[in-house]
Amino acid sequence: MNILVINCGSSSLKFQLINSENEETIAKGICERIGISGSQLVYLAIGKEKTITEKPMEDHLIAVKMVLNSLTDPVNGVLKSLDEIGAVGHRLVHGGEKFNKSALITEDVISATKECNDLAPLHNPANLIGVAACLELMPETPMVGVFDTAFHQTMPEEAYLYGIPYEYYEKYKIRRYGFHGTSHAYVSKRAADFYQTEIDSARTLADLKIIVCHLGNGASITAVKNGKSIDTSMGFTPLEGLIMGTRSGDIDPAIIEFLSHKENKTIEEITAILNKKSGAVGLQGGGSSDFRDVTADYLAGKPAAVRAIKAYVYRIAKYIGAYTAAMNGVDIICFTAGIGENNSVVRSEVCKYLGYLGIKIDDIANEIIGSEAIISTIDSKVTVMSVPTDEELMIARDTKAIVGGDCGSGPQ
Ligand code: ADP
Repeated sequence: MNILVINCGSSSLKFQLINSENEETIAKGICERIGISGSQLVYLAIGKEKTITEKPMEDHLIAVKMVLNSLTDPVNGVLKSLDEIGAVGHRLVHGGEKFNKSALITEDVISATKECNDLAPLHNPANLIGVAACLELMPETPMVGVFDTAFHQTMPEEAYLYGIPYEYYEKYKIRRYGFHGTSHAYVSKRAADFYQTEIDSARTLADLKIIVCHLGNGASITAVKNGKSIDTSMGFTPLEGLIMGTRSGDIDPAIIEFLSHKENKTIEEITAILNKKSGAVGLQGGGSSDFRDVTADYLAGKPAAVRAIKAYVYRIAKYIGAYTAAMNGVDIICFTAGIGENNSVVRSEVCKYLGYLGIKIDDIANEIIGSEAIISTIDSKVTVMSVPTDEELMIARDTKAIVGGDCGSGPQ
């Protein structure tokens, strides 16, 4: 079955058409600047030339139409008709406490997702616009929602509650939700399979303690014990936890009031600074959020980049220590996403803190870029890996499983 995976943001729409039998990508692309001037569709059918179509896209319905037209185009298309799309899998950011797994999209599921909109006001409404557009154009095709938060719903109360009056949890559902769940689920499973093949055939995901470091523009780290997320660094929103490209991660909450008085700014303005002007960018006093640039400057000894990378790496190492304690041990630490898969400097600097765990890094193996590899030595007490994430494939797998009737649920 061909599965169309849709990741719809407020002004962009990423898509990937995947053959669910052999799990190969058939075509993929992105619609950018939807609803604003200069919109374009970048489309790549695997094995053909990339095409860029510049055309106004007033809304997501037009963007989805353009994607479907490209997929069925007589020259660059890959399908004879839309009937060849067996199902659509939609990335949905926030399922609150209502979804602990992916779900077949029905009116009830759409309503329950809408009820989570105020937990993710930038993401969920945009995701649901993509769902509505696809339902309008392909009303007979089954659709599945795959939630970023669902994998983390196994966290115990002591991990997800904040130390604030309990009534705020009861009234407003303020708690840790965690994000990047699709990636953490995919990578922890891949890492366990890899470990079973390469290290110990008797161990499986069900009895391993794994720490997944998803280091992309956004970054989060998860403790996966026996296949379940038991704690994760992003919280009520993606702002908590690690230092990121432009996000602060953990800070003392009292800083917000202090800064708003000193700088005469509103809470909204301070929150925007914490999301967009902090992290590696903020620590450098401006400049690039792209870790290729920051790392090059770090290696050249530029003080601003040295400051940023040191703080970035230190925070990761601290979380690894915390999650090792939370699981009473760790078998595998894996690095994933843009920085985790490609940046050997960051991986090596993090692991320098981990000697107490008996971790030894193989410097040659650690040069790996963008592929699956064990980067620790044979005698390292904990296996350290680089595992490329594939959120689209995970969405396609869940979609296939649900449409095939294997699993899935409505709102809880
Ligand atoms: P997003 O959260 O937007 O999906 P990514 O997972 O693509 O982010 O990660 C983006 C980060 O990954 C950037 O800081 C970038 O520097 C880094 N990155 C991506 N590709 C490479 C590469 N080939 N080599 C080194 N760093 C890379």
